[in-house]
Amino acid sequence: MNLDVDRDRLVAEIEELALISEAEPPVVTRIVFTAVDRKARAWVIARCEKAGLAVRQDPIGNMFARWTGSDASSPAVGTGSHIDAIPNAGKYDGVVGVLGGLEAIRSLQRSGFHPKHSIELLVFTSEEPTRFGIGCLGSRLLSGTMAPDAARSLVGKEGTSLEEVRGDAGFKGPLEEVKLPPGYYKAFVELHIEQGPLLERQKIPLGIVTSIAAPASMRISIEGAGGHAGGVLMPDRKDALCAGAELILAIEIAARTSGAVDTVATVGICDVFPGAVNSIPSRVHLTVDIRDTNLERRAAAMRAIEAAGKTIAMKRQVSIREELVNADVPAECAPAIAEALSQSCMKHQFAYVPMVSRAYHDSLFMARVAPAAMLFIPCRNGYSHRPDEYASPEDIARGVVVLAETLAALAA
Ligand SMILES: [Zn+2]
Repeated sequence: MNLDVDRDRLVAEIEELALISEAEPPVVTRIVFTAVDRKARAWVIARCEKAGLAVRQDPIGNMFARWTGSDASSPAVGTGSHIDAIPNAGKYDGVVGVLGGLEAIRSLQRSGFHPKHSIELLVFTSEEPTRFGIGCLGSRLLSGTMAPDAARSLVGKEGTSLEEVRGDAGFKGPLEEVKLPPGYYKAFVELHIEQGPLLERQKIPLGIVTSIAAPASMRISIEGAGGHAGGVLMPDRKDALCAGAELILAIEIAARTSGAVDTVATVGICDVFPGAVNSIPSRVHLTVDIRDTNLERRAAAMRAIEAAGKTIAMKRQVSIREELVNADVPAECAPAIAEALSQSCMKHQFAYVPMVSRAYHDSLFMARVAPAAMLFIPCRNGYSHRPDEYASPEDIARGVVVLAETLAALAA
C-alpha cells in the first residue's frame, strides 16, 4: 500500500477549523453545544460527506462518519477524538485526531484500499468538562459508563440542563439510544498530541500508549472554629486552614510514596471561609484530583489520604469530611493494536516509544467496550490547553501515516 498523506490540506483544515472559535485567533474556545460548536460540527460533517462517508449523530451529539466496508455487518474499526476546546485553548488538542483521522481515511481511499470492516471516524461530544463539569460525556454514554439518568440530571454552568441545551442544539432522541451495542467496534484507535514534553525531550516522534491513567476526585470539607485574629490565643485555636495545609502536604506524600511515578495528586482548589485578614479560618473546602494507571495503587493512596485526615482532625480538633465526587477506572491499551501501530512505525523506520497517557481521553471509555489504543505525537514544549499549543506538520503527517496503516491492518 502506497500512502500519500495530503499534509498541506490537513494543515489548512486545522487552521480553518481553528477560526471557528468564540475567541480571536490564535485562541480557540469552542464550548459544547454553543453556536460555534454547532458551526464547527457542520464544517466537519461537510468534509466527511465530501469524502463519501455516511454521517450520523446520536442523541448526545456524538458524530459517526462511516466508510462502509465490504463486510458491512461485521464490527467496525473506529478512530477519532473531539473538537470541543476549553476557554483559551489551542488548535490541536482533539482536532489532530479528528481531522488527522479523516485524512487517514482519505489517504486510504486514494491508495485504492478497500476495507473489509467498516472504518468509522468519531467526533465525541464534550470531551472537555467546561460546560457540564464532567469530561468525556459522549464516550461515557457510548460506553455505558454513565447512566442516561445521571446525564439527564446534569446542569450546565449557566443553570440550564443538559437536556435543554442538547435539545436546543438539535439533539432530541432518548439518551438510552446512545450506548453502543456489544461488539460494535472491533478496535478503536485515537491519534492525539501528547500534551506533555516527553516525546519532544527524547526527540522521538511517536508514542504508543500502553495505558491511560484515570482520575478520581474528592471534595474535602474541614470545619474548625473561627474567631478574632488578635483575640484567640494559639493554644485555643481550631484553625481549619492550618489543618488543610497539613492535609495538602499529606496528600502530596501519599502520591510521592505510592511506589510508582504514575501516581499524581493535586489540590487545585482551596476555598477559605470567611477569608478575611483578621479572622481565623473556620471552614476550608479542598478539591483533590488523584490519578494513576493502576486502580489498586490509586485506591491505596486515597486510603492514606483518609487516614491522614483522621489523624489531623484528631490532633487539631477539627472535623474533616471526604466526599468522593468521581472515580474513573484506568485502562490498559490493547496489545494487538499497539502491535499494529509499532509494525507501521518499524516499516517506516519511525522511532517510537511506549508511553502512558497521563491525561485522560475518550479512549479511556472506549477501552471499556472495545480493544483500544492511542498514538501520540509531540507538541511544542509539551504545551496544551493554551493558545500557543503547536504540533508540526511533519509530526502530524507522520502520525496520520501510522494511523492510516493501522486502520488498514485492523480493517482488512
Ligand atoms: Zn483532547
